[in-house]
Amino acid sequence: MSSVNLRISGPTPLPPRVREALRQDMVSHRSGGFRALVEEVVAGLAPAFGGPAAVLPFTCSGTGGLEAAVVNVLRPGQQVIVMSTGYFGRRLAEIAESAGLRIDVVESPWGKAAAPDDLRAALCRSIDVAAVLLTHNETSTGVLNPLAQLCDVVHQHSNALVVADVVSSLGATPVRMADWGVDVAVGVTQKALMAPPGLALIGVGQRALDAAAANPRRRYYFDFGRMAEAVAEGTTTYTPAIPVFYGLQESLRLIAEEGWSAVMARHQALAQMCRAGLASLGVELLADPAHASPTVTSLALPCATSAPVVREKLAAEHNVLVASGRGCWKERVLRIGHMGHVGAEEVADAVDALGAVLRKEVRHAR
Ligand SMILES: *Cc1c(COP(=O)(O)O)cnc(C)c1O
Repeated sequence: MSSVNLRISGPTPLPPRVREALRQDMVSHRSGGFRALVEEVVAGLAPAFGGPAAVLPFTCSGTGGLEAAVVNVLRPGQQVIVMSTGYFGRRLAEIAESAGLRIDVVESPWGKAAAPDDLRAALCRSIDVAAVLLTHNETSTGVLNPLAQLCDVVHQHSNALVVADVVSSLGATPVRMADWGVDVAVGVTQKALMAPPGLALIGVGQRALDAAAANPRRRYYFDFGRMAEAVAEGTTTYTPAIPVFYGLQESLRLIAEEGWSAVMARHQALAQMCRAGLASLGVELLADPAHASPTVTSLALPCATSAPVVREKLAAEHNVLVASGRGCWKERVLRIGHMGHVGAEEVADAVDALGAVLRKEVRHAR
C-alpha cells in the first residue's frame, strides 16, 4: 500500500493511470482534440446519471454546482422544501436561502434517512412548491437517502422540480434521473469518480432546461442554457479545468473496464466490510442500518476518547487519514470514506489501525 491510506470522504485517492493522465500538456478548449475529450467524458458519465438530457461540467467545486442548480431553475420568492438529514442538507438550505427562496426545511435526526411521510406532509401543507431539494448520500452522517421513493412522493403530490445533491453517491450507487424523475443532479469529480477536484458535473433533465430557459433571474457564468449549447458543440462556455478533464477521461475508462455494476457492487461490499469490522471493535455505528451509505461510514467513539485525538494518532502512528464528524458531531464522531479507488486492503487497514489506537487510548483512560 502507498504510504498514506487516504480514507476521508473526498478528495479520494487517484489511480496510477489517472495520475499519469494528469501529466498531459494543455490544449485549446476550442480545438478538435478537446471536443473529442468532452464528447467522451459526457458520454461516459451518462450511465452514472441514468439518462439525463445533458451533462454540464462547470469548473467549480460541488457547492458551486449546487448554487448553479438553484439559481438556474428557481427565482427569488419561490417556495421550496429542503429535506435535510445532516450537515450537507443544511448547506443546501443555506444556498436556497441565499438565493432568496422561501424555504421549508424538513429535518431528520442525524443518522436517520429522510422520511417519505415527512416529505408528503410538507408538500401537503404548502402551496406552489417550486422544487424539493435533497441530499442523496448525506456524507456527514453516512446515510443514503431513499431518493427513488422521495421522488415518487414529490411527483404524486406536486409538479415540483427535484434537485438532488449526488456529490458523494454519483458513480458509487445508482442514480436514475429519467426513471425516478430527478430534474437536476449535482455530482463532482473528486469523490467516487476517482478524479481530482475541479469540476461540478451537473446532470439536467429537459424540465430543468426548460425551467432555466424560462427563468427571468439573470445568470452569467453558471447559465445552464449556454453551457448546454457549448457542450453540444464539444466545448465549455469558458476555460475549463482541462487537467481535471484528462483525469476524468481516464477514470471513466477505468470504470468502463471494471463495469458500472461491478463498481457499485464493490462499493456495497466494502461498506459492509467496513461496518462489520467496526462493529467487531465494539464502536457504535451511527447510521440507521437500513439506510447505511455505500461510500462513507460514521462511528461514535467510546467516551474515554476524543475524535480529534484518535484521528491524530491514526495519522501519526498508522498513516491512516479519516474524517472527523461535522457540526455537533465533531468531538465524538469519525467517518471513514470508502469510495472511488479503494479495495478491501485499504478498508481493513483503516479498521485495524482504529482498533490498535482504541485499545491504547481506552487502556490509558482507565
Ligand atoms: C463533499 C460534498 C459536498 C461539497 O462538495 P465541494 O466539492 O467540497 O464543494 C456537497 N455535498 C455532499 C453530500 C458532499 O459529500
